[in-house]
Formats: sequence, C-alpha cells, structure tokens
Amino acid sequence: MPGTFIISLDCEGKWGIADRDNRIESGFITRSALIRAYESLLRVLSVYEASATFAFVMALTLTKNELDDWMPRLTDVHVEGVNWMRNFRRAEAAGYLGGWFCPEAFDLVRDSGLHEIGCHGFRHVPLGNCEVGSEEAGYELRSATELAKRKGVDLKTFVFPRNCVGHLGLLADQGYAGFRNAHPIVGRHGRLGNLAREFNIREVSQDPEPSASGLVSIPGGYFLNWRQGLRRVIPEAVTLMRWRSILIDAVANDRVALLYLHPHNLIDGPGTLELFEGVLRIASQLRESKSLAIVTQAEYCAGFVQGRANSHPRSNGTTQSAQPTPKEASALGSDAPGEAW
Ligand SMILES: [Zn+2]
Repeated sequence: MPGTFIISLDCEGKWGIADRDNRIESGFITRSALIRAYESLLRVLSVYEASATFAFVMALTLTKNELDDWMPRLTDVHVEGVNWMRNFRRAEAAGYLGGWFCPEAFDLVRDSGLHEIGCHGFRHVPLGNCEVGSEEAGYELRSATELAKRKGVDLKTFVFPRNCVGHLGLLADQGYAGFRNAHPIVGRHGRLGNLAREFNIREVSQDPEPSASGLVSIPGGYFLNWRQGLRRVIPEAVTLMRWRSILIDAVANDRVALLYLHPHNLIDGPGTLELFEGVLRIASQLRESKSLAIVTQAEYCAGFVQGRANSHPRSNGTTQSAQPTPKEASALGSDAPGEAW
C-alpha cells in the first residue's frame, strides 16, 4: 500500500490578507502577478503530472459580469469585533479592486482539467467556533456553495481560512466530503516556533484521522517554506531534506503527507516555485517506484470512504519515525535519504 501525498493550494488573492493592513498597503498582490503565479504552478504540476487541490476563496473568482449580482452579497462581517471587509471597502471607495478579483486564475485551473477545485470560503472569513457565530458561518458557506454552483462546480472539500476549524455541522450540511484539518502541533508555538520547525530535517508525515461530523478529516500537513522575510534564512537544501523525510515517512508507514502553499507566496517569495518543484521531483521519484500516490483532497476522501484509511486505524500521533526500504532509497538516488536521516 503506497503512502499518500496531497498538494493543497489556498487560492485567495487579497482576501487572504484582508485584515492585514500593512500587507494590503504594500500592494504586492495584483491581478497580473496572480495570473503569472497560477500559470507557473500549473506548468510545474503538469511537468510532473501531479494533480492538486486548488481551494478558492469563491469571491476571488467573480467575473465582471457576475459582480452586479454578487457585490451586494459581499457584506460586512465582524470577526472578533473588527470588520473583516474594511480593506475591501477602502479599495471599493478608491475604485481599485486589483487582487480582490481574479477569475482568470480560476479559469486557468478549471481549464487544465487535471485539478480539483475546492473551497476556501466565500470572503475568507475565519470560521473557527470562536471567530464567528453560526449565522455568519452559515452565510459564508452557503454563499460559496451557491457561487460555485452558478459556475458549474461541485465543491467536495474545504480548506478553512487561517486553518481555524469550526462549524463542522454547517459544513456537512453543504454536502462536502471532507475538510483539511489543522495540524495538531504546528502553529501552536507562534511564528518563531514555526520557523524553528523548518529546520527539522527528520520531520514526519501524519496518520489518517477519524472522521468528524460525518466529514473526512484530511491531515493538515505542512506549509512549504515561503522564501520571504526571516524565512529566507532557511537554506533550500534544508527544506528539501525536510520534505524528503516527510515523504519517505509517508511511504514507509503508509501515512499521509500534505503540502500547502498560497499561490501568491510565489509573488513575494523568490525561489518558492523552485522549492515547490524540488518537492515534486522527490515525490515523482517515489511515485515511479510505486510507493507513493499523489492525490487530490477529493480523491483522498473518496479513498477514505472506501475503507483504505479505516483499515489502518491509528491515533493522531505524529512522532513515529521511519526507515526507508532499499527500494525507496534507490528511488531517491545517492544523495538521500541517508543524509536526511
Ligand atoms: Zn487562506
């Protein structure tokens, strides 16, 4: 039984930084820069024949023609007492909405015919139980479903904005098969903790998780280091050794490795695309040896329901280390995995 690798992309444009005034004001996300980022990711995925999940903030996908109907639906919403839409309102007043809408990105993904279109909310409102009440959460989820249906897309999996997982019953009501869970440890030690973890070249993958509210819980995995700010100090070779370890652990123990990234990280993180390609190169070598399956989130959920994951019930522990088999080692070539261990 092969290990599983899932590539999960949080497609959000400016919605993902809607509450971060400095990042919005820096203006680094533009429509043309977003299009280039999606084109680059799709090109690399095509080279390695790897299918990914592109989870869209549905508002990002609105076309000019759709805006008349949908602008009134982009209502203000308060998250922990602050209006999530305040920077959008400023952009609206200024008459410049570049980076808030990029239907071309959605079209590029859909037209490729290779990838899953998942959902990352309607306005990227964090949906943890503490962030918003059920009325607002329900509105966010229903609006995303409605817009996707208008576009002829059947959403199967959900990626929670900011990885704030909540309101699972409402999510199940919308007919999703599963959701990307938050990693049980990563993120609990702040930005410095996350940074330190990037140096862990013995990182491991995750076990399948029990279902929640009738939904498949997709192990949350790890963010691909985004080469920006302090994160630039992490050598590319270290990041690749870390991912080699994660993938080999998935292979050796029939576990799940998930990589997530925001396409806009390519805009202000030079070298991030090359890292992404480096991880895909490792994964495709493992796939060639039949020891790793690269699947979308929806495919993972379908496999889970068919009983593959349930046949290996385990806890959510993440500390188990792995030793590669000779077959896996040879698939990886001479520069690894010995050095990674
Ligand atoms: Zn996001």
